[in-house]
Amino acid sequence: MNCWNDPINSRIIFEQLGIADQVDEISLPALGITACTASDKKVGGIPSVRHCAAWTGYGWNIVHREDLHKILLSLIPKDTIQYNKKVVAATEEESEVTVICEDTSVYRGDILIGADGVYSKVRESMFTILEKQGVLSRKDIKPAAISNVALLCLTELKEDVSSTFMTESDLELKMFRGTPYSTLTFPVYSGKMTTAVFLNATDWEPKDIQAFKNSDRSKIIESFSETLLDNRTSCGLTLREVIHLTKSERMTLVSIEEKLLKRWHTSRIVLIGDACHKFHPVLAAGGNQAFLDAVVLANCIHGMVDVTPETIQIAFKSYHSSRYWNSMVIYISSSMVGKLFLCQTWLQTVIGVILLSIPIFILDIVFKRLFCKDLPQAAFLPLIPPTGTVKPYPQKYSTPLDYDKPVVCSIEGTS
Ligand SMILES: Cc1cc2nc3c(=O)[nH]c(=O)nc-3n(C[C@H](O)[C@H](O)[C@H](O)COP(=O)(O)OP(=O)(O)OC[C@H]3O[C@@H](n4cnc5c(N)ncnc54)[C@H](O)[C@@H]3O)c2cc1C
Repeated sequence: MNCWNDPINSRIIFEQLGIADQVDEISLPALGITACTASDKKVGGIPSVRHCAAWTGYGWNIVHREDLHKILLSLIPKDTIQYNKKVVAATEEESEVTVICEDTSVYRGDILIGADGVYSKVRESMFTILEKQGVLSRKDIKPAAISNVALLCLTELKEDVSSTFMTESDLELKMFRGTPYSTLTFPVYSGKMTTAVFLNATDWEPKDIQAFKNSDRSKIIESFSETLLDNRTSCGLTLREVIHLTKSERMTLVSIEEKLLKRWHTSRIVLIGDACHKFHPVLAAGGNQAFLDAVVLANCIHGMVDVTPETIQIAFKSYHSSRYWNSMVIYISSSMVGKLFLCQTWLQTVIGVILLSIPIFILDIVFKRLFCKDLPQAAFLPLIPPTGTVKPYPQKYSTPLDYDKPVVCSIEGTS
């Protein structure tokens, strides 16, 4: 998606990295998530978002993803990243791991971290290794379930619209019960609005999704009903107007997969982010959880006293056990909320009705569990003391830290 909801789990890491103020400057605070019907009747929502600042010391922000990338990139020394390197395979031996790129370059190192997203090539190679060892889980190799297809628009609003709309930063979800649609709209910093139209996956062929070009907007519009197109988004424009106002390069069609792997590592290869857990995006958790994976894995690696296979295994297992159950909770919750906001089948409608009747104090408990307690920090940076009323889970892996004997695994390039 073109924008990023920044639940507070990763906000504390921005604070540690010294970029929180920069991120705040380009963010809009989110005040809540409102669910309503196509006729604008409010049927529920997640008001807990509003209390984030009091509970954790940080509000829930919305930031344009490209802007966030720029800030993060500015922290990384130039020449550290090599671009245009497409990994095609990875192999693992007793003493090292080898990465092969499409341009035939080969890299060797002590460990390999696969952060290459939902269609991870590193994961594919990991599966091959596990298969040879006879420990590959059949469940893990099953393709990810595609729950929806989403049309995503990042629209620059005219000044008269944005000046009123930008003061309202509720995320608005509209459900078109019994139809294959639901929409999500919310403002992003600097006069832009994000719209997502969630569609029934069974109505779309994977080849059509892959082949979708921004120029196909007329095809998309034809496939939508007049009711959907004439419906007003939260900024007051109809969806038809939003689509027309969106620049071609700011419109995409993506399939929404859901998958949680049981196995996240081999002896020397480990996965983080979407490569090992892909959540329904409705809770805006995937990117944040990828950050948390990176922090916890970095802590585990930093605590390693040497790079023997035994020590690597301990580090990888600690990482997995720290992250797996939280990922499971996010996976189940986002899947359920995703169903609530679709309400296309009778089962989804039943789940939706049940979820919408949950008392607010229970929603608050779940929300705190998901977003306000799981706040791991980089153990090798000065820790930020909690300032909210909710006590975070205890920080793990903060000892031993020895900067004089870094054990970060090197990756040497050879051609
Ligand atoms: C519609 C939608 C809305 C979302 N909204 C939010 C939100 O508001 N908040 C939130 O936290 N999350 C959100 N998410 C989820 C979030 O986008 C992902 O969880 C997050 O981007 C995962 O990060 P990642 O680094 O694991 O993978 P990715 O972001 O997919 O990054 C993978 C990287 O690996 C590279 N790569 C892939 N294959 C190779 C290869 N073979 N060789 C070399 N490089 C490779 C890719 O180019 C890419 O740069 C949303 C997702 C969707 C679909």
